[in-house]
Amino acid sequence: MGSKKKVHTFVRVKPTDDFAHEMIKYGNDSKSIDIHLKKDTRKGVVNNQQTDWSFKLDGVLHNASQDLVYETVAKDVVSQALDGYNGTIMCYGQTGAGKTYTMTGATENYRHRGILPRALQQVFRMIEERPTHAITVRISYLEIYNESLFDLLATLPYVGTSVTPMTIVENTQGIFIKGLSVHLTSQEEDAFSLLFEGETNRIIAAHTLNKNSSRSHCIFTIYLEAHSRTLSEEKYITSKINLVDLAGSERLGKSGSEGLVLKEATYINKSLSFLEQAIIALGDQKRDHIPFRQCKLTHALKDSLGGNCNMVLVTNIYGEAAQLEETLSSLRFASRMKLVTTEPAVNEKYDAERMVKNLEKELALLKQELAVHNSLCSRPVVTYDPMDEVQIAEINSQVRRYLEGTLEEIDIISLRQIQEVFNQFRVILSQQEQEVESTLRRKYTLIDKNDFATISAIHKAGIVDADGHLVGESDGQSFAFGIIPFSTKPGKKAKAKKIFKELSSSLKKEGGSSPLSLKDLDTVSTSKTQLVLPVKEVDVKDSASRERETSNIEPQVSSSPKEEPRPPRPSTPPPRSLAFEDFKNERGSEINRIFKENKAILNERKKRASETTQRINAVKREIDVTKEALNFQKSLREKQGEYENKGLMIIDEEEFLLILKLKDLKKQYRSKYQDLRDLRAEIQYCQRLVDQCRQRLLMEFDIWYNESFVIPEDMQAVMSLGSSIRPGMVPVNRVVSLGEDDQDKFSQLQQTVLPEAPDSIPFINAKVKTEQKQNYLKTMMGLQQAHRK
Ligand code: ADP
Ligand code: MG
Repeated sequence: MGSKKKVHTFVRVKPTDDFAHEMIKYGNDSKSIDIHLKKDTRKGVVNNQQTDWSFKLDGVLHNASQDLVYETVAKDVVSQALDGYNGTIMCYGQTGAGKTYTMTGATENYRHRGILPRALQQVFRMIEERPTHAITVRISYLEIYNESLFDLLATLPYVGTSVTPMTIVENTQGIFIKGLSVHLTSQEEDAFSLLFEGETNRIIAAHTLNKNSSRSHCIFTIYLEAHSRTLSEEKYITSKINLVDLAGSERLGKSGSEGLVLKEATYINKSLSFLEQAIIALGDQKRDHIPFRQCKLTHALKDSLGGNCNMVLVTNIYGEAAQLEETLSSLRFASRMKLVTTEPAVNEKYDAERMVKNLEKELALLKQELAVHNSLCSRPVVTYDPMDEVQIAEINSQVRRYLEGTLEEIDIISLRQIQEVFNQFRVILSQQEQEVESTLRRKYTLIDKNDFATISAIHKAGIVDADGHLVGESDGQSFAFGIIPFSTKPGKKAKAKKIFKELSSSLKKEGGSSPLSLKDLDTVSTSKTQLVLPVKEVDVKDSASRERETSNIEPQVSSSPKEEPRPPRPSTPPPRSLAFEDFKNERGSEINRIFKENKAILNERKKRASETTQRINAVKREIDVTKEALNFQKSLREKQGEYENKGLMIIDEEEFLLILKLKDLKKQYRSKYQDLRDLRAEIQYCQRLVDQCRQRLLMEFDIWYNESFVIPEDMQAVMSLGSSIRPGMVPVNRVVSLGEDDQDKFSQLQQTVLPEAPDSIPFINAKVKTEQKQNYLKTMMGLQQAHRK
């Protein structure tokens, strides 16, 4: 397997009473044949021309029986085909030299049957000898005549000319002929019936089509597919044996034919010379391109010539002197063929169905193995199957409890379970994010502190208690009501901040803004002070307000259209800065007031923070001083040797007081420091709140300004677009531009393809023209359809 092999070439000489002993001589090894041409044998042969040739082959079959021929030529090829190697046996030679006799034989006489029936016999005999394998046999019989393909096994061959022409198709599996019937045969007899039917068809066809059967090539193919009968074997092998009876190789000049016959002869010579070209290319190690597609014969035999095949050539020759010239040319062909090396290889394929079955078996076994393993290390019963809904729901509840803190740990049971735990984490997270978003969107209505009617209504509904605490507020998870607490306890403050953070981060992810929740926080941290924005609904999608961060409070140019009744427009819009002042006093007065209030709170907090910082620094200085004094006392005491007395530590009063003072100072320091930290956090929140109020103010101003004074440009554009476009209409310039596109494509092709293959110009021309035609047709059809609509 895989080793290089030469094409086996044999010569078979047709028996004759008139054998040219003087001209044809066999070597003693029965492997060589010498030809001697008498100089005056035919006219035109000049003296200085070569007269002697010696051909070395793999065997010369002289007076050989059909039996011997089969043994020598075909037996190994056929037997190797059953092991997965493709095989090709070809008979070449001039008409009447015995190609058909060798290949098919005399069908009326069993002893004289040829390679074909014998090969079928061997195949079926070998199948019987291999009960371990299920081997299928399929047969096809193709005739190539005048570059046309004929199926010699079609049920009704040559009925008229309307039969769909067969085509040669190439894919990854190799070559096959589309439209050629391939017949499954389970026994020898069926195979023979097919063979005879084919032979009959060949004769009938020759008759009805008035064609010379010696001028056609016939390819009889046996396809084998061997599956092991043991289920575990996933691989199976395929192979095919091509038995080729070539057309007569005689030269055109000699036949002297004209008209139809001439045409035939030309074809035959052509396809045979293409075969020869392909073979020369195959024999040349330096050539990597083999011209297989020049004619139907070589194309159909592409994967059966050279390559991974066992290949045999039988050259049939006459033994008579009169045919010596043709004999010589046939022998030359044979010696060229001998140079071709092939690399026979087994065609292995994989049985997908069997692979799946085997994998299933393997899986079941591994599961059993796992069960055994679990019981050995006494693990609780674990199933490794995909989880069902109940199991997934259980994991979901575990994860929820874990997140709430009611479940300490989630025990690891299996890989699948861990994966599901992570999955449920993700599910819960995204659910929470959605909940938060929709809650804010739907329910987060803030109430003005002066709106006593609403507040009392809410009190009645029991959502907030008399002090303004949210009912169920301690449950940090539920954030359904956006009522601003009127006062807060310090513990809740931290929690509220935490929740707020989560909320705002999840909102940010969704691209929303959260000015109101920030505001809420602010109220939380400023205890009795309430800040309320007069906004009825939080628009989470409002990214405009989020994008525009400004440090100063100057209006910017923007255009955000809104669907509201517009006041009458003045002819020239006032300057934005002026308009902004108006806006702040009128329509934007409420938000401006809130903005100012928030800013005041921020400033107040900043002031307090700076005071606290000063205070901390003072305490720190005092601590340092006290520490120094204490150290001084200690060193004094050590010097006086009063340190130890009867194992007791004695501290004098001054030192004791210093220690007390230091302790108190440290306490103060800590508490002030804590205050400062809280203040800083509040400042941060207030700052964001102020920023957001500012943005809101600017945004509302922008909207108001644009509504009141500006007509957006894109609206103008829309309005100016006339009614010239109607549905279903193809703009004229589209139709014209199709051709231009194609022209571009063509010049691109020219640039890329032409330098390499100048021969391709007609091809590309034709291709582009076809595409143009198709495009034009498509456009026309589109127009028609549009009209019909
Ligand atoms: P080809 O197919 O090459 O044109 P055929 O196989 O048809 O030639 O042979 C022509 C004739 O010669 C046939 O009648 C055939 O039976 C006969 N013939 C050819 N070779 C032999 C052979 N080796 N022994 C006996 N008869 C043969
Ligand atoms: Mg023949």
